Amino acid sequence: MAQPFDPAAATAAYLAALTPAQHAKAQAYTQGGHWLLLWGALVTVAAAWLILRSGVLVRLRMRLERAGPRPWRAVAAVVVVFAVLDYVLEFPWTAYAHWWRERQYGLTSQAFGGWFGEQVLNLAISTVMLTALVGALYLLIRRAPRTWWLWGGGVTALFIGAAFILGPVYIEPLFNTYKPAPPGPVRDAVVAMARANGVPSDKIYIYNGSKQSNRYTANVSGLFGTARVAMSDTMFQQGADLAEVKGVVGHEMGHYVLNHAVRDAALFALIAMAGFFLVDRLYPWALKLTGAQGVGGIADPAGYPVLMILFAVLGLLATPLTNTVSRVAEAEADSFSLERVNEPDGMAKALVKTIAYRAATPSKLEEVIFYDHPSVGSRVRKAMDWKAAHPKTVAPPLGELPRSG
Ligand SMILES: [Zn+2]
Repeated sequence: MAQPFDPAAATAAYLAALTPAQHAKAQAYTQGGHWLLLWGALVTVAAAWLILRSGVLVRLRMRLERAGPRPWRAVAAVVVVFAVLDYVLEFPWTAYAHWWRERQYGLTSQAFGGWFGEQVLNLAISTVMLTALVGALYLLIRRAPRTWWLWGGGVTALFIGAAFILGPVYIEPLFNTYKPAPPGPVRDAVVAMARANGVPSDKIYIYNGSKQSNRYTANVSGLFGTARVAMSDTMFQQGADLAEVKGVVGHEMGHYVLNHAVRDAALFALIAMAGFFLVDRLYPWALKLTGAQGVGGIADPAGYPVLMILFAVLGLLATPLTNTVSRVAEAEADSFSLERVNEPDGMAKALVKTIAYRAATPSKLEEVIFYDHPSVGSRVRKAMDWKAAHPKTVAPPLGELPRSG
């Protein structure tokens, strides 16, 4: 007589794939990461305050204005000078939080030189994009001083959209090599899944993610014609089998089919809009609090560090909100994978391998505030509940999976 399938016991068995010491280490890494958010915001505030108080941006703005009013140039100069000074001031912290600590936990094998080179490249790219975005925001502040925050939300949505579209084509290849999945059972399965779910099947890549991180991961990025699913080579180095790949890729396809990129861009733009409104109201008070001399109203680019201070604080306070937007989409992508691909065990096996950087069993409160994915414990349990409710007697051929609307 076969025992009836027990989802709770099956979940516990999956979590027991890690030793108690490994779970404790994952918890130390994850909970330490929560504190890094607070310390990181404080470091950003301190760096911006130092730059503001140095008066360097006021002098820069005055010098540029002497040659006539060229607000675009003053904004561009302020953003670039601030980005470089801020990067230098924050560097010890960045190196600790994003490289040294990852090494300590065995989550990266990247040498310091390689990491630093990518940091510089990243700084250059983000400064160009930021200059355009901040330039547009200051233009709105000058033209529509009362309603700029409203239009600013729309501009932010456009920028997020542009980053989604251009990222996979122009930016990601600068950091990693993307290769189409090689012929074989993995690609055959993934292509069949893509066909069954209306995803362009020529856009399934494997990238050398192990260069930067040992995290077992996959992602979907891009929008419309540039969208693609990419699996890190770490998945295969950590022995992903076909069921795992199907479970994981089914999840990523869920993000694509359910249009999460568009929805998230819209929601993040709304959150940005609320942030701009608060920044508009809080600016005079915050400027006074910093004690900076020679800085004008919110339209003065020399006050840019005040905006950065407010964004750092508001961004920190918005963490539970932004994480929840993400977590809801992640739960939907899991459901999609279970419904369309029906590989609950493959998914559970894959999830267990992510515990190293995302502790499995946080409290509900910790999950709501800090987790941008549901916890592995609850995700594995959901897969096992699905398995209990959908005993897999004969798997339907992939091409004939039911399509829900
Ligand atoms: Zn996801």
